Amino acid sequence: MQNLQNLDELLLKVKSTKVREDDEHGRFQVNKQDYKSILVRNIPFLFTCDEINKLVCKKNHSIIINDGIITKVAPSSEIDDVDFDVVYDAGKRGGIVVTPGFINTHSHIHMYLMRSSMMLDEEETLEKTIAAMGEWQKNETDETYLCSAIGDITEQQKSGITTTLTHGPNFHTAEAAAKASAHNLINAISAVSNSKKENTPEMVEEILKKKNEFYSTPAIALHYLYKTTDEILKKISRIQKEYNALLTFHMSESQKVVEESQERLGMSEFEILKKYDFLNENSIASHAIHIKDDDISEMVNAKIGIAHLPTSNTIHKSGVFPFWKFRGSGGFNKISLGTDSVVSKNRLDLLSEAYQTRITHLYSRTIKFGSLFKMMTVNGACVLNLKDRGKIVPGMRADLAFWKLKDRGFIPFDQENPMTLLGNLITHGGRMVRDLMINGKFVIKSRHHQMIDESKLLEVIQEKHMEMRDRVKKEFKEK
Ligand SMILES: [Zn+2]
Repeated sequence: MQNLQNLDELLLKVKSTKVREDDEHGRFQVNKQDYKSILVRNIPFLFTCDEINKLVCKKNHSIIINDGIITKVAPSSEIDDVDFDVVYDAGKRGGIVVTPGFINTHSHIHMYLMRSSMMLDEEETLEKTIAAMGEWQKNETDETYLCSAIGDITEQQKSGITTTLTHGPNFHTAEAAAKASAHNLINAISAVSNSKKENTPEMVEEILKKKNEFYSTPAIALHYLYKTTDEILKKISRIQKEYNALLTFHMSESQKVVEESQERLGMSEFEILKKYDFLNENSIASHAIHIKDDDISEMVNAKIGIAHLPTSNTIHKSGVFPFWKFRGSGGFNKISLGTDSVVSKNRLDLLSEAYQTRITHLYSRTIKFGSLFKMMTVNGACVLNLKDRGKIVPGMRADLAFWKLKDRGFIPFDQENPMTLLGNLITHGGRMVRDLMINGKFVIKSRHHQMIDESKLLEVIQEKHMEMRDRVKKEFKEK
């Protein structure tokens, strides 16, 4: 790492130091500061998938959490509120809707500083955007990466995301950001990178060897499979198996990519998956647009994970993901959603991405709200092989999103049919959580991040963004 001291200084700068009033509006009752047992009581509406992945809406329920794990979910009348370190009243002041924290299976958290810099809506093609991105990336430092990662993760958290897979060139700054923001991060590190020559399969293997030492979960990333070499693909194939690691890659994103793959390696990306034994449930294909029907069924049979990114696909004019073909082949539980980076989708949330999914495929058939909800929760957990996340049932990690019910876009709804509430949650779009719990700890409380001072963070991000613009501009001039 180039300048550890700068990174520590940056972390110190954005760290939250304010002690906030816990009992604001009487929703939190904190009996012990270092809390382990929590009662979330009187939840008017709780949406989750049950043990067999059926979507349910529970009315007037309470949740008990012990040491980061959900231990009981039951009607509020059956639970006494004695002896808890924290009691959270979800019934007060109009009430709170509780959902599992959402799971984002595709993002690039190191790119957050690029917001507004790519003028993507003015560019004509994906290729032009990628070329501009290359110029920017040459000027990144560990400090800008860390700043980006904290900005990106905390924005995702505000929109209810508690678990994220990121795909990028710098493992250690993503690790530091996950720790600083208490986020569940699958940290997929590029085994080849244009901007970072030190990224090799060997480097990725060293990180995977030490996986237990990290806060985040190491994984492997290859930006495009066809842009690597036979040697690298063989190495990655061995490493994926040996360490039982997730491998994430972009696949058949545009027609151009399909042609390039044929030109460079003489085969399609699907054939690369087959040849190097990547057709397995530890692989995650993002975009997956231009794929033959027969290949789709083989991908589904191999239980490969899919990150669907409809906003990115629309903005870059890449094409339409064959959702109904994957679903028709029995692959629905492996279709999840991602935010991608700010270059492809300015708003880093899954709710607006779920709505975009509905709109994108509407001409074929309507994707029901329940299916969209699953794509943000249980399907995401399935794609990332996380058996203990994505739903609110006993034994699961306590990752919960708390949404204010008496709020614009939620009201009015049909109290007799709570699915109208779920429809409002998705179609109104861009909602922010009131509170957020990750692994049994409140990371956002009364709309305030508990670890990161958002006001200071935004100042630092603005400053670093302008410094980056100057560096990139200067380099363009010198050319
Ligand atoms: Zn991507």
